[in-house]
Amino acid sequence: MALLAIEDFSVSYGKAEAVRSVSVEVEKGRIATVIGPNGAGKTSLLNAAIGLLPASGRVIYDGEDISRLDVEQRVEMGFCLVPERRELFGEMSVEDNLRLGAYSHRRAHAQNKRSLDEIYDRFPRLMERRRQAAGTLSGGERQMLALGRALMARPKLLMLDEPSLGLAPLITREILATLPSLCENGVSILLVEQNARAALETADFGYVMETGDIVRSGPADALIHDPMLITTYLGGH
Ligand code: ATP
Repeated sequence: MALLAIEDFSVSYGKAEAVRSVSVEVEKGRIATVIGPNGAGKTSLLNAAIGLLPASGRVIYDGEDISRLDVEQRVEMGFCLVPERRELFGEMSVEDNLRLGAYSHRRAHAQNKRSLDEIYDRFPRLMERRRQAAGTLSGGERQMLALGRALMARPKLLMLDEPSLGLAPLITREILATLPSLCENGVSILLVEQNARAALETADFGYVMETGDIVRSGPADALIHDPMLITTYLGGH
């Protein structure tokens, strides 16, 4: 059963249509990925799904049409977006950045200590650096912190915009490899990525987006062997 169903979704900037009648689903406890080149409309899709941008179409969450809810209400229901620019507080410590992740969530706030322990367990590097200013972290550590901060809100639906941006391939894999275990804890994930291979290796289901349209979709392990994708996005091998 789908936790999230985006149905017939369109997003426009003035006359320019960035997303055209797109439908995407995220099943409960699974990872769906939307891959595609720069400018395909992936970021617009995520921003509209969480209610930051107006869209036509419907957003069904846990069987309920929430298209009319605003971003705060969606966040309250368990949506969480980790934007492309990680937007940490560079002067503040790693731990204070994490604590801020739960700050405005009453439900999550009460579980602060438990959430922190879980995140340190998952990312020992953040534990080692917890008193350090976030601005001194490496790119990979910042992405871990951005993810950790999102987890402090105890999301049900985690939306990640291009977590690999600016990271070396090995670090990208290290970060994406942490996602399946989040699903075991009941989180469902919508992952937007330009790094098609790494995303499909992590996800259960994939969508390929090009200039506002979904041009291919299917189980991730099938897409990874799809000849069209191999030549265009997967580096020919
Ligand atoms: P990227 O990987 O660069 O974020 P993307 O697949 O996420 O690419 P979007 O950022 O959603 O794509 O952009 C889709 C289209 O919408 C592009 O043509 C882009 O130029 C346009 N666009 C995005 N944001 C705006 C904006 N604020 N105003 C006008 N056009 C925009």
